[in-house]
Amino acid sequence: MSASHDLHCHSTASDGHLTPAAVVHRAADQGVTTLALTDHDTVAGLGDAQAAASTAGIRLIAGLELSVLWQGRTFHVVGLGVDSGEPGLQDGLARMQRARQERGEAIGERLERAGLSGAREGAREAAGTAEITRAHYARWLVESGNVRGYEEAFKRYLRRGRVGYVHGDWVAMEEGIEWIRRAGGIAVLAHPLGYDLTGAWIRRTLDAFTAAGGEAMEVACGTSPEPRQVQQLGGWCRRYALLASSGSDFHGPGHPSREIGGAPALPADLPSVLEALPERGG
Ligand code: AMP
Ligand code: MN
Ligand code: MN
Ligand code: MN
Repeated sequence: MSASHDLHCHSTASDGHLTPAAVVHRAADQGVTTLALTDHDTVAGLGDAQAAASTAGIRLIAGLELSVLWQGRTFHVVGLGVDSGEPGLQDGLARMQRARQERGEAIGERLERAGLSGAREGAREAAGTAEITRAHYARWLVESGNVRGYEEAFKRYLRRGRVGYVHGDWVAMEEGIEWIRRAGGIAVLAHPLGYDLTGAWIRRTLDAFTAAGGEAMEVACGTSPEPRQVQQLGGWCRRYALLASSGSDFHGPGHPSREIGGAPALPADLPSVLEALPERGG
């Protein structure tokens, strides 16, 4: 039942609940044989994950999930098979981490001003050594009893249009894809149904994404796992002649995301991004 690969998940290097090593061991326990760790805007967890993967006897693909801007909106591009030490990528990620720090502060200020005292400190603590994401604010909002669950935290405070929403100063999509490609990786459009877009806008996004050098898209996502969603995504994947990727978007046991290895299966006729990865030294 469980897929043997999972090409999208998070650790404490960004907004996951488990350390990189614990993510790898959990993946191995779930029967995953090829895993990509794809933390938000960082490759900091990959060293520990690789060491754990060697011990656990599974294949680790060096990945990340880049926040990018296109047409004034945020999209996520997963990079797979990157050389994480490549200088251009390193510089780019340092810039992203600074953008996250500033945005993390700004979110805190807005929430505190709205009467949620302790928000900034709470998110800082939830993030540990990682840079702050909205997921850390969500965790604090839940733990401090201000909301009943993650969904409510986003609905009431953190999503676009709410008091705690601050637009990130992310890299432009074209440049972000270039960072991934120059580091030898494959750029994958993450969870295309996760942006609240009409079909026409998803096609426009895919036009721009492929024109900029994007080569793959997620078709089997933990966040849109229904058969008709996989079918719809598969249709776009064929039409744009992209490679197909799949991943759970696992964030940890205490989080509403899917279990690691828990993405649905890819339609059998689609070319898997995995087949292109060994050629890149992934
Ligand atoms: P950020 O990149 O800082 O904007 O944070 C985005 C992260 O927040 C995502 O990667 C998810 O982990 C989490 N997230 C966003 N929306 C939701 C939601 N509706 N429910 C649960 N988690 C969410
Ligand atoms: Mn996340
Ligand atoms: Mn994402
Ligand atoms: Mn993700």
